[in-house]
Amino acid sequence: MSSAYRELKERAWTANHEIPKRGLAIYTFGNVSVLDADRGFIAIKPSGVPYEELEVGDMVVIDLEGKTVEGRLRPSSDTPTHLVLYRNFRGISGVVHTHSTYATGWAQARMPIPIYGTTHADHLAEDVPCTAVMSDEAVEHDYELATGNQILECFKNRDPLRTPMVLVAGHAPFTWGTTPEQAVYHAAVLEELARMAFVTWTLAPSAARLPGCLIRKHFERKHGKNAYYGQK
Ligand SMILES: [Zn+2]
Repeated sequence: MSSAYRELKERAWTANHEIPKRGLAIYTFGNVSVLDADRGFIAIKPSGVPYEELEVGDMVVIDLEGKTVEGRLRPSSDTPTHLVLYRNFRGISGVVHTHSTYATGWAQARMPIPIYGTTHADHLAEDVPCTAVMSDEAVEHDYELATGNQILECFKNRDPLRTPMVLVAGHAPFTWGTTPEQAVYHAAVLEELARMAFVTWTLAPSAARLPGCLIRKHFERKHGKNAYYGQK
């Protein structure tokens, strides 16, 4: 296949394959998109194709208005949600949507995931936010676009680069990252945080959140301007 979008499609294909590999989806659940910021295109999984049948050439390339630039299949039905995030969250270049079990459990309970411990604080400095429930009108009008707008509303006073994940109430999570690989990493991390929090909440529903000084310590040593975690 010779295509001006080959590299973008390969990156999207690889990122999509990470989803079942990490146990984050079965069958056709979930999708990953990758942004080519210079050209203003994204490559995304086609709608309804199981991961094991997915080929690089199946990835659909679309512009940020949703027009197909290259591809013979229909893009994921969640594409309008991905596009809302790319148009509004500056600096992201990958978006992931899964129905991973524990994160979806919290989304269905319409509960933010409490920041109970340092594993959570290593990745974000607050509860994993949960959107409001969508109105009937928004569902009827343009559901996938409205899902994106629900997320924007939830991030009105948040920095999406500091909190790279959200639960859509009654639905499931979306995560993103400055690279597609990081967006997938956040999806896997979110599922693990959701699982740990579920155990904590089950053992002690009134368990306290981590104290602020520990949250700051753990978050800042990995993400602050004086970060010192790891080998960098
Ligand atoms: Zn979904």
